[in-house]
Parts: sequence; C-alpha cells; structure tokens
Amino acid sequence: MEACKMCIEQSQKRRRGTPHQYLSKIDALRFFKGNNNRNYEEQDFQCQVCQAKFTWSSNKNDLAWTLWQG
Ligand SMILES: [Zn+2]
Repeated sequence: MEACKMCIEQSQKRRRGTPHQYLSKIDALRFFKGNNNRNYEEQDFQCQVCQAKFTWSSNKNDLAWTLWQG
C-alpha cells in the first residue's frame, strides 16, 4: 500500500518533530550508545491509516524520521 499523505510529509521532516496523529508506537523505546558517548534513542511507529512503519531516532547524524522501505 502507498504511504498516505501524512506519512509522506512525516518522512520529509528533519530533526525533531512530533508524529502525526495516526502514528502509534509499536515497540518500546530503544537506547543506543553512539560514538563519543553520545547516546541516542529510537522508537518504532506504525500508521493506522496506511500501515507504513517509521523509526524515529534522536541520533543527530541520522534523519529523525525514517520510513521503512518495502
Ligand atoms: Zn500513513
């Protein structure tokens, strides 16, 4: 299924940003140890409209919102 408009917009958000209203958490928050002791967090979300899945990351070297391919 194609990603809905809200998810397309979500995937284009850089850095921080809140999930759109139909994104719900599907997993627990994960903690990672990054380089130089820069810890970061990841959280998985799924859209209730189009079933697209996102991973949110607080890693500054990464996109905040990553839309899963496939
Ligand atoms: Zn969606």
